[in-house]
Amino acid sequence: MEHLIPNSLLLANAAYLVAAVLFILALRGLSSQETARRGNLYGIVGMAIAILATFSRPTYGIHFSPYLFGAIAVAVVVGATMALRVGMTAMPEMVALLHSFVGLAAVLVGFSLQLRHGEGSLAEHIEVYVDVIIGAITTTGSVLAFLKLRGSVSGKPLLLPARHFLNLAMLIGIVVLGILYAREHKDMTLELGTAIAAVLGVHLVAAIGGADMPVVVSMLNSYSGWTAAAAGFMLDNDLLIVTGALVGSSGAILSYIMCRAMNRSIWNVIFGGFGAAPAPSAKKSEAKPAGEVQEIDAATLASTLKNSKNVVIVPGYGMAVSRAQHAVRELTEVLRNAGVNVRFAIHPVAGRLPGHMNVLLAEANVPYDIVLEMDEINHDFPQTDVAIVIGANDIVNPAAEDDPTSPIAGMPVLQVWKSKLVVVNKRSRAAGYAGIDNPLFYKPVTKMLFGDAKAAIENVVAALKA
Ligand code: NDP
Repeated sequence: MEHLIPNSLLLANAAYLVAAVLFILALRGLSSQETARRGNLYGIVGMAIAILATFSRPTYGIHFSPYLFGAIAVAVVVGATMALRVGMTAMPEMVALLHSFVGLAAVLVGFSLQLRHGEGSLAEHIEVYVDVIIGAITTTGSVLAFLKLRGSVSGKPLLLPARHFLNLAMLIGIVVLGILYAREHKDMTLELGTAIAAVLGVHLVAAIGGADMPVVVSMLNSYSGWTAAAAGFMLDNDLLIVTGALVGSSGAILSYIMCRAMNRSIWNVIFGGFGAAPAPSAKKSEAKPAGEVQEIDAATLASTLKNSKNVVIVPGYGMAVSRAQHAVRELTEVLRNAGVNVRFAIHPVAGRLPGHMNVLLAEANVPYDIVLEMDEINHDFPQTDVAIVIGANDIVNPAAEDDPTSPIAGMPVLQVWKSKLVVVNKRSRAAGYAGIDNPLFYKPVTKMLFGDAKAAIENVVAALKA
């Protein structure tokens, strides 16, 4: 009879299964704007079920102390306040900070198990070691990413002369200590391995330019998932394994998509040196305008738009900076009411974080069905009467296709120059994130609408209504 599984464990495991399914549905929901809200809801319900099930699950005979509930209550208030206050552009730094907590939790749990069990099986020691090592890399890497994004430490990449050799030496040190730890189970080897992993986390992220941090944050997100999965094995917790694997793989896929969209190598993100050459934002001031531009004013643009059939709007980082999304939605409404077919073209790395433009347009209530991904709309530019580029630069730079020596050569871009007219709104001829000039501005088909995006688009709307 003693071998029967207790009912509370069966119930908790069933609840875990439900939570795992809800997490998968959440990820599925988050993959499209129409279902994102529902996806979030699935995630919230799944997490609530997971927490309740964990408290009711008999684990190692642990009794939860009332202090723990007090700490959770404080954490909930702190987390909710942070989430309410965070601005859209500060999102990557908050996410980086949260990843460091996941890493730290994994390290602490690993050490507590080592202290508690000491002499465990070989498999248990491997689980503890893997968990603690990935956790330590995630913690220090994420803290540094957070500090770089905040501007508290310099965003310049630290490129030590023998950095790849250093990384390799640290990796070998970690593996050797891991073998020793698995054989002898000494606290000391675990501590030494953790210390090296902590330095490795700092070194990997230090080698990456501050402005490239969003891709690294997405990679650290993946690491935090794998560390959670390792913790799941260590704690014998199936839900943690499943959730960790979901976070780990989705973070890795997102990093890969971002790297492809920026034409960078994923290996550079993992091993450092990413963004160090040849297109860091440090080069921005060097970009010199290489030709004459033609300007257009709001009134002329308004009358051209009135006579157009197909208009495509390409939003970029500048739309986010000037918070022009509501003015853009109004422009869309006025044109659609006048019978113009208006659509949006979204580049995968427009703005400064994945999905940046989609979130802003959704916030302004732009209908989802007219917001299209690059691959869905790129071939439509030849049939487009006016392409309006709002605060975007690198993502519409033809040099990516025409100039093999360009730092962004090979990066897929939105081919706006194939439209009958391109109107580029920005404040000046300054370069974008990649710090390079944009030949689009000097093409005969292009006209510049200079000014802050919000004010410029509001002027066009006013002219359309007049
Ligand atoms: P860019 O940074 O290339 O260009 C933005 C342009 O907006 C600037 O040239 C600037 O010109 C203009 N701008 C700034 N403020 C305003 C304003 N108030 N009103 C009007 N215009 C303004 O942005 P894109 O969106 O085109 O490209 C994104 C870049 O960021 C890519 O290089 C991508 O690789 C990179 N990146 C993206 C990430 C992501 O996840 N989305 C992550 C990391 C990097 P001016 O100063 O003349 O106004």
